Amino acid sequence: MKTPDDERLKQMIESDLQELDIKCADCDKSLLNMVRSRETGQTQQLIVNCPFCDGQSWTQKLVGKYYQKAPEGLMLGGMDLKDGLYKLNMEIKNA
Ligand SMILES: [Zn+2]
Repeated sequence: MKTPDDERLKQMIESDLQELDIKCADCDKSLLNMVRSRETGQTQQLIVNCPFCDGQSWTQKLVGKYYQKAPEGLMLGGMDLKDGLYKLNMEIKNA
């Protein structure tokens, strides 16, 4: 049985869902999935370090409210905020 909160969340996601797949600029592997939960005027910039080749993604500018989702086999190792730019380190998850 669904709770009202589940319903509301589902509607919110369906109405305003935008997914962004952030890939490594060097080896093209998926590093992070960002999912927009709400459209707002808020912007943020982020760059993701690649654990596969020690490269990184292009700088991504995000408008709205996002939450992050690590791709299968990866996890967030750490995050750093400097001059309005988030730097995220991804790590390969050990099975
Ligand atoms: Zn890479």
